[in-house]
Amino acid sequence: MKLRRIAIIAILLFVLAFASFSTLGQEPFLFRAVQEFNAAFMRESVPAFTAEEAQSIALEVIPLVEQITGKKFKQIPEIAIVNRSQVISVLRSESTSDKNLPQSDGDVDYTSIATGLLGMYGKYDKTLYLLPGNLPPIMGFFGTSILHTEPLTKLVIAHELTHALQDQEVDLARFLTVTNSDKLHAFSATFEGHAVFIHDQVGRILGIDETLIELSKILSSKEPTMYENPLLRRDRMAQNKLHDLIYWGGRDFIDYHFQRGGNALLWEILSNQIGRAHV
Ligand SMILES: [Zn+2]
Repeated sequence: MKLRRIAIIAILLFVLAFASFSTLGQEPFLFRAVQEFNAAFMRESVPAFTAEEAQSIALEVIPLVEQITGKKFKQIPEIAIVNRSQVISVLRSESTSDKNLPQSDGDVDYTSIATGLLGMYGKYDKTLYLLPGNLPPIMGFFGTSILHTEPLTKLVIAHELTHALQDQEVDLARFLTVTNSDKLHAFSATFEGHAVFIHDQVGRILGIDETLIELSKILSSKEPTMYENPLLRRDRMAQNKLHDLIYWGGRDFIDYHFQRGGNALLWEILSNQIGRAHV
């Protein structure tokens, strides 16, 4: 039960996260395995980009997100560069407003969630958080060349800006009053799928198709053989399936409806989620 609850928590964060570290079980053996793995391979590094660089990328990407979604930003979200301990504070403060998030630290390993985050949209403080110190270890783990650093940053910012635009149009926080897990998965798949659908097109317009492939590797993490510990490997396989459902199943769902009715239908689906029992 606890495993299931934590999986649900993690996918409601409106993030762009390395698949294998966004969700975690609390069984002691798994907890230890993840801690050891993080300490060995996922140490936070010096930031891969600065606040100024992120701002300038946002200025480049905002018109593309607006063009593709057919919506204008009424207000550009503030961009905050944070490290892991700072994002943990944000997660804790969100948990006081969101009943789907754990109310005590004993329920979740925030450190491991923070280890997998590339970006996060704060649905209560309306801030776009970026974690440039997580980019080098995650890229290193997947063998992604450092030449992809800047284009990857553009995709992360495009993804999180899409969540900001969704929030402006739909108010993301209201969906989090739902506690039925099937509904929560459907909401997550719809909103994450839309964000992937948009960052994908931003990447194509920018001509960074190879970076899109690198990001899809990071998000899917389809190679559980990379984990030496068999317990960790088995857990990652299960988590990968969930991530595939949320990010790629969601993207296909959005793409299907886009082909049928364009952006008008997409925004109708996004805004009517709360009223639909069967999505
Ligand atoms: Zn997202």
